[in-house]
Amino acid sequence: MTNKWRLDFSGSAKRVAVVGAGVSGLAAAYKLKSNGVNVMVFEADERAGGKLRSISKDGLIWDEGANTMTESEMEVKGLLDDLGIREKQQFPISQYKRYVVRNGVPFLFQIILEPFLWKKSDSAKVSAEDAKESVGGFFQRHFGREVVDFLIDPFVAGTSAGDPESLVVSNISDPLLPVKSHARYTGNAPFIPGAVESREKLNENLFRYGSVIAGAIKSKFSARKEKSAEAKGSSEKKRRQRGSFSFLGGMQTLTDALCKAFGKDELSLKSKVLSLSYSHDGRSALENWSLCSSNQEKQSLGLSFDAVIMTAPLCNVKEMKITKGGNLFPLDFLPEVIYMPLSVIITTFKKENVRRPLEGFGVLVPSKEQQNGLKTLDRVPKDLYLYTTFVGGSRNKELAKASTDELKQIVTSDLRQLLGVEGDPAFVNHFFWSKAFPLYGRDYDSVLEAIEKMETNLPGFFYAGNHRGGLSVGKSIASGCKAAELVISYLEKSSDDKMLKE
Ligand code: FAD
Repeated sequence: MTNKWRLDFSGSAKRVAVVGAGVSGLAAAYKLKSNGVNVMVFEADERAGGKLRSISKDGLIWDEGANTMTESEMEVKGLLDDLGIREKQQFPISQYKRYVVRNGVPFLFQIILEPFLWKKSDSAKVSAEDAKESVGGFFQRHFGREVVDFLIDPFVAGTSAGDPESLVVSNISDPLLPVKSHARYTGNAPFIPGAVESREKLNENLFRYGSVIAGAIKSKFSARKEKSAEAKGSSEKKRRQRGSFSFLGGMQTLTDALCKAFGKDELSLKSKVLSLSYSHDGRSALENWSLCSSNQEKQSLGLSFDAVIMTAPLCNVKEMKITKGGNLFPLDFLPEVIYMPLSVIITTFKKENVRRPLEGFGVLVPSKEQQNGLKTLDRVPKDLYLYTTFVGGSRNKELAKASTDELKQIVTSDLRQLLGVEGDPAFVNHFFWSKAFPLYGRDYDSVLEAIEKMETNLPGFFYAGNHRGGLSVGKSIASGCKAAELVISYLEKSSDDKMLKE
């Protein structure tokens, strides 16, 4: 672990509690530790990783949560270098080939608007009126309904399990990618009998629409011109940095590498934080936090902390008891966050039973296509035989909760129609996320305001994670790292104040 930012806290080691060992909490703790801060990570679950969850079984490796990430965030680049896991990065062969379903048939759709959507900073000057408009409304107004139904709808579904009417324009630059597979792709470009001509026409249109959308986003949202280095940006290295990837062994590799940095006493699993208390003796802002977790052993240690980084989802924070100066700090101002449920279905088929393997990076199914019998949110031909299919999101909330048997039928039927799979899957795995993603909808500002209120009223309390600043793995890491930086400044300032008083 690098110690290039190691700080001098005048000899006294500072201690920070990090609640939640998802990727944001682990990244925050890693950064703090790299700076010489003592950390203790509390995780409710028996495993670390949160929404990163890779399973390795019977010679198969699959992800039940995030299966790719990008390093468009500066913090991700630094982290991957520090962790030394570059050689384990896995890039897909057909990074930019996605398929959109039309009339029940998958068509190639080269995503060219994504790079523009990745740039959160470029959206800084979006007008207040546009910012509040739904994504669907905005694109319908500018490009018509067809673009919404066949481009924007599947894109939004594939990136956030949401729908264009629920998301607001100011949030679409979140870089969560509509890519659901990272493994080596094999197979040929799809040959769809009777559809070649229309496929070409559609591609033409999609390219045209893609360019128009990208241009519109660029001119509408650009606060400043892209830096010249990025304008050049077609080098292989840049493409790879912008593209998505996973790791040998799945996303778990990232979690494992982060966890390795912590000793047994620094990462406490099965430790659900139940309450936090802040007491201020008037002399110093430090050593004022204590917390109580479901793990009695830790509780009895009676440790105090100088600061807390909270990365648990807000629905979990709402369940905690927080006291300040002995009085209850009511959390009733925290609004209810809407979460998208999602089922992740893994199926494998023998290669000879797949008539139309798609070479590319995922098939997006517009909600309009549900009338053609397609119910699944997204599926990806992965490696030779393994498909990851997402069912649910805002358009299919109820279906996400269906039984494994029911979902197996639905997925197999959709894969039969799209890829020409024959017979039953040789293997099926089902994982259900009741709260997969927080929905960055119209009222999301109130969520962000509530987070700020907690931070303002609770000295030394910082919030990070995917409820703030973006849903993607990269954004979550960046959020954790930023919180760690804020904590470091806070600790430095508090130490200075303490010395002045003494
Ligand atoms: P989480 O991972 O939710 O971590 C929060 C942690 O807090 C959890 O481990 C939880 O157990 C713990 N916790 C909760 N309450 C307590 C408590 N009281 N005490 C202690 N601990 C507590 N992103 C991408 O970039 N690419 C993708 O391909 C992608 N695909 C996805 C697919 C799915 C199915 C899902 C669900 C998400 C996907 N994402 C993807 C999004 C991304 O994975 C998440 O947004 C990100 O990992 C969130 O990280 P986090 O640390 O903010 O939160």
